Amino acid sequence: MPLLLPRATALFLFPFPFPKFKFPKIPMANSNTLSTAAPRRARLRGVVFDMDGTLTVPVIDFAAMYRAVLGEKEYIRIRAENPSGIDILHHIESWSPEKQQKAYETIADFERQGLDRLQIMPGAAELCGFLDSKNIRRGLITRNVKTAVDLFHERFKLSFTPALGREYRPYKPDPAPLLHICAAWEVEPSEVMMVGDSLKDDVVCGKRAGSFACLLDESGRYDSPEYANFDYKPDFKVSSLTEVQSLLEAHFDLSP
Ligand SMILES: [Mg+2]
Repeated sequence: MPLLLPRATALFLFPFPFPKFKFPKIPMANSNTLSTAAPRRARLRGVVFDMDGTLTVPVIDFAAMYRAVLGEKEYIRIRAENPSGIDILHHIESWSPEKQQKAYETIADFERQGLDRLQIMPGAAELCGFLDSKNIRRGLITRNVKTAVDLFHERFKLSFTPALGREYRPYKPDPAPLLHICAAWEVEPSEVMMVGDSLKDDVVCGKRAGSFACLLDESGRYDSPEYANFDYKPDFKVSSLTEVQSLLEAHFDLSP
């Protein structure tokens, strides 16, 4: 059962101020069109990863989870209203405590089934090794529970610090967890990149924090026209984690 903190409590527990950082404009690029004419390279001092579908192979059937939580009719209605994806945690927040409790149990069931089949994403371990060799910090933000993060750490012997689960409020796409990590690292958000497979959670969190955002899009689903007018755009897009190292080397100053 996740620890649920009211927003006011979360702010009290983590009371540092969040200054507004200006995001330096850089040209849009992706790993297939690396520009050699890029202006002065930005410094990179940390990378923050999403967990499910980014550091781990996607195993949770989110559509089935949403159906189970919302019911078929509500699912279809909400899906139509939110073509870029359903924010299930946000959606159930306004429900009665009893209904909410049941929804969290259903979500936890799906997440548990996912844990049984957990696999590390190809390229994740190599990328972590590369970041370590450059003394670039590694953090993790997930909307999954902290126990799933603990299991991930334990099973794959990779550690991310800080690693925040959904007990940290407000969660992604709010920039708060990313700003919290930047503050803990004592680095500017503009020196950090958020990497994740969700446009609406990871990219929005990264951009709102004033960081770089890299979208992992294995299947090319975000090439679909329905995402063309989405308010937030990633700075980079890759189809696998193995592309991230060359992207970092081409676009950033990785010196300590
Ligand atoms: Mg994800």
